[in-house]
Amino acid sequence: MQQEKTKRLVVLGAGESGVGAAVLGKARNWDVFVSDVGTIAPKYKEEMEREGIAYEEGGHTAEKILNADMCVKSPGIPLSAPLVVQLQSRGIEVVSEIEFAGRYSTAPMLCITGSNGKTTTTLLLHHILTAAGIDAGLAGNVGHSLARQVARTPHKCYVIELSSFQLDNMYDFRANIAILLNITPDHLDRYEHCMANYARAKMRITRNQTPDDRFIYWVDDPQTQLHLGDVHGEAAWLPFTDRNDDSMAASVADGVITFRTGDKTWSMARSGLSLPGRHNLYNSLAAGLAATAFGVDTDVIREALGTFAPVEHRLEPAGTVDGVRYINDSKATNVDSTFYALEAMEAPTVLILGGKDKGNDYSQIDTLVDEKVKGIVAMGVDNSKIMAHFGGRVKQIADTHSLEEALNACRRMAQQGDVVLLSPACASFDLFNSYQDRGRRFKQAVKEMGGR
Ligand code: ADP
Repeated sequence: MQQEKTKRLVVLGAGESGVGAAVLGKARNWDVFVSDVGTIAPKYKEEMEREGIAYEEGGHTAEKILNADMCVKSPGIPLSAPLVVQLQSRGIEVVSEIEFAGRYSTAPMLCITGSNGKTTTTLLLHHILTAAGIDAGLAGNVGHSLARQVARTPHKCYVIELSSFQLDNMYDFRANIAILLNITPDHLDRYEHCMANYARAKMRITRNQTPDDRFIYWVDDPQTQLHLGDVHGEAAWLPFTDRNDDSMAASVADGVITFRTGDKTWSMARSGLSLPGRHNLYNSLAAGLAATAFGVDTDVIREALGTFAPVEHRLEPAGTVDGVRYINDSKATNVDSTFYALEAMEAPTVLILGGKDKGNDYSQIDTLVDEKVKGIVAMGVDNSKIMAHFGGRVKQIADTHSLEEALNACRRMAQQGDVVLLSPACASFDLFNSYQDRGRRFKQAVKEMGGR
């Protein structure tokens, strides 16, 4: 795409995606200006200085922004932000970084969205493609800008994790393969507290798809079913299920998974998957289908689905102490995630729950708690809701306010052969900086207890 006269690209938000977009804009001869209300990380400042990209931090100067020809908005900035409203009311196009990058690449795009499982499925699909010797870029929410790769290190294809916020500002982008894992309530504050708005944002992943493209989705997800009428484009649909149903593109019968993409049918043992749990079965079905539809050799897919290592903070083994296995599932920041984590447990479990509650309904896990949990350790500043809900339900419960206290309680409750599962169902910000910080400190503490 050639620019006749230099056009002005304004980038709002100087994080990974914003700075990546600025780099691509600069490489394609835009007059680029980056603006961030907060402070910009030193590595991004250095990068922009190296590239000769103008930027400001600590506030937005309206006159340097409202003269844009196009704006790339960070997914963190809501559509309702006053500056975004002003830009749009002047007819200035506001796009996401992925949309902007997509305009400069003809490489196939394999995209993953959903409320839960995006990162796992994205990394799993990337692992399969890489095992097949395919030069695939890894992009989107997983932490690497698509735009920067398109500008600097173009790949043959890209595997992209998309949040609903990125999808909100995508218009012409076309996913050659689109995966929708599931839709459960999340981020509703950004969607006028309306589930249908959130679901429709997720369905935007199918925009502009052609009959050569594929739409992969979990057929048993109630919200997805409700919104199949909102699917855009003309892709061939590849629904998957963990039930025995030959009419689906992927299904499971008697411990055997079968993939069917129209031109190809192949099978593998469920026990051959490296990732545990029913939720990871869904993620494996989605990634396996995408790889099959993309033409990857089925022997390679089978092997790669069996060699993928757990992603950090997602049912990640943290070590064994005195015969008790410790598992780090710190990424479980909602009850739905904790549900799947518990479901995957095969030994009596001591469950560490708690943190910043986002309006949780703990009754969702009552049955699994009855079945599998021998003790609950609440870990947070305010544990009253967890104590009240589970107090009469489990034999042992502890009210703790630090990681150290929590692990002491776990050691009292767990015996040889048991599991201690950190799957808190809450955000981490009361006691930790982030879920990563929570998970790493948990792993470190297990190591210090002699875990190996
Ligand atoms: P995301 O990137 O969408 O947040 P992750 O792959 O990081 O998803 O997984 C986050 C948590 O969600 C995991 O710890 C796991 O407990 C749960 N999870 C993973 N995959 C699924 C799925 N397909 N359905 C429901 N929950 C899932």
